[in-house]
Amino acid sequence: MSATSEFTRLSGTFFVAGSHKPSASDASYPIHDPSNGAQLGHVADCLTEEVDEVLDAARAAQRDWWAESALYRAEKLHEVGRAVKEIKPVLAEMLTREMGKTYKESADEIDWCITALDYYAEVGRHEMGNVVGPATKGQFHYTIKEPMGVVGIILPFNFPYVLLCWEAAAALAAGNSVVVKPSELTSLCTLKFMEVFDCLAPGLVQCVTGGGRVGQQLVSSAKSDMIAFTGSVPTGQAVVRACADTFKPHLIETSGNDPFIVMPSAPLRVAARGAAFAAFLNAGQVCTSAERFYVHEDVHDEFVRLLVEEAGRIRVGSGLDDVDMGPMVNQRERDRYEGILARAVEQGAVVECGGSRPGGMDAGFFEEPTVLTNVLPDMEILHDESFGPIAPICKVRSLDEAIALANDSTFGLGANIYTMRLDEAMRAVNEIETGMVWVNAPLLDNDAGPFGGRKLSGTGRQLGAEGLESFRHTKLAMIDPTASEHDFWWFPFATEEGYRANS
Ligand code: NDP
Repeated sequence: MSATSEFTRLSGTFFVAGSHKPSASDASYPIHDPSNGAQLGHVADCLTEEVDEVLDAARAAQRDWWAESALYRAEKLHEVGRAVKEIKPVLAEMLTREMGKTYKESADEIDWCITALDYYAEVGRHEMGNVVGPATKGQFHYTIKEPMGVVGIILPFNFPYVLLCWEAAAALAAGNSVVVKPSELTSLCTLKFMEVFDCLAPGLVQCVTGGGRVGQQLVSSAKSDMIAFTGSVPTGQAVVRACADTFKPHLIETSGNDPFIVMPSAPLRVAARGAAFAAFLNAGQVCTSAERFYVHEDVHDEFVRLLVEEAGRIRVGSGLDDVDMGPMVNQRERDRYEGILARAVEQGAVVECGGSRPGGMDAGFFEEPTVLTNVLPDMEILHDESFGPIAPICKVRSLDEAIALANDSTFGLGANIYTMRLDEAMRAVNEIETGMVWVNAPLLDNDAGPFGGRKLSGTGRQLGAEGLESFRHTKLAMIDPTASEHDFWWFPFATEEGYRANS
């Protein structure tokens, strides 16, 4: 089973009730390797009836799954984790070929899937509600955590496996079934990933493919009970609007524009290495990429020198070769990114390194790692998500200024600071308005800690205990075991408690 033959086998299919089935749709999208333009296969634009068929199968499977014991669900999720490990090489190669990230990045992403599955396998059975102090003597009051039902998971192109697992593992651990709608650009590798769920009942995890219309159907269908969306702000807003019609619960993870502050006490070599990683990982196509650098004037020039050195070491090329950075995902994304870069230069930014396409690599969507200086706070590049391999640097005079600029954003996903001063670190953690703050530790995630943003970066949380909660309803139960009469507030009302007796 080679990755290339898998692309052919999975082309035009969707994953329903435990197997890949050819879609009857006439419409499809060609899929190209972003490193060389070769066509890998095609993705079906699933029909409305096919999405309905999947949602019906999801409903049936969910009832049986929730009826099982919590221990059974835990054992099954561990089994899924083991299945991921077994087919890791082919999954990694397919992701690299379809999306462009390096093989090492693909393999790491798959490892994070396994830890998330194992984490939620256990957290899902740890507690399912709590006992509440009764408001009336002799009664038993408690909460029960119940699944939402059928959860539609709509995903972007940049981390198709791990974002799926963060949400699907939590949703399944909570007793839901899952219908995935991957990005058109990463649908074939996602269809392959469906095989890791073979040990689960057919219908519990399924995948429909296609464009925005298919996502829209998942959101608006009365057959889905919750939507977990990760992607851009405009699409996220459209999802929230559609959910508003029925108050359908939704978890929204959208864009970021993370600041990266460097203070004079920072170990500059380490800070520059961390900065290069945070800006250029996955060719900058990470929602928590460092996108705005605020560097203290005392260390600005030296930091720029070191970051340019780091950027110069990054080997760009096909993710299947020995390189550090692959291509961008497609022409549209590269054009958008190049527009942002060009406007920054027009507005006065200085290109310290990179700034164009690498020579002799025209067949793919490659870009050079780019460092910009002379970037001023009002420039567009500091306010829009660039989502490409670029580090725009703005010089600041103080931590106050850096924090104020970090907060001068419509986004609030993550933030970074490099400093060895505890007071500065604590101020950054307390004062920056984001969902996550990394002190000397860019881009880290932790299955056990919540991930998510504020402002236009989204609502709700994935991962951690909060990430499980996102996929559960809370029900309050109040039980009077003796069925006693509650004369203290039942009819008839006592005359001595009425208005006349008390006025
Ligand atoms: P998009 O918003 O373009 O697409 C996301 C998903 O939504 C795709 O599957 C897309 O389908 C689907 N979709 C499109 N229109 C609709 C609709 N009307 N209703 C429902 N679904 C729809 O995002 P990208 O794929 O371009 O991903 C990049 C974005 O994702 C970046 O902004 C990035 O910051 C963000 N992101 C956020 C993360 C976070 O956790 N905060 C993590 C990772 C990425 P199709 O592709 O087929 O059009």
